[in-house]
Amino acid sequence: MKKNAEIRGIASDTLDFILAASKSTYPNEFAGLLQASDGIITDVLLLPGTESSKSNAVLKLFMMPNISAVGSVHSHPGSVVRPSQADLHMFSKTGTHHIIVGHPYGRNNWKCYDGSGQPVKLEVLDVELEDEELL
Ligand code: ZN
Repeated sequence: MKKNAEIRGIASDTLDFILAASKSTYPNEFAGLLQASDGIITDVLLLPGTESSKSNAVLKLFMMPNISAVGSVHSHPGSVVRPSQADLHMFSKTGTHHIIVGHPYGRNNWKCYDGSGQPVKLEVLDVELEDEELL
């Protein structure tokens, strides 16, 4: 998929949002789909019901309708950020950039993987995000 190959990084504000959401959802899992504009991941589409559910958040990603996404993000309750078998299965179905964040959800507690589960480098970029809430 051509547009996914153009991903240059993730906005630092978006990463901070992911880390904060993972922290506040702990010990439950947090999951969402990543959306990009101009090659930079700037949006996280939260999955309905993720916050209140103790069930596997990854499974919920399968139930999302066909929304254009460059990949996914989810948290692990532990510090291990390696993809599980369920994660790998899901990665292969949705996009090319998959972030896993682990406890304690700091700036160094995450990794990005491609659709086959191989680690990929994802730059954290300082970009100005438009505040869509004001619209
Ligand atoms: Zn996982």
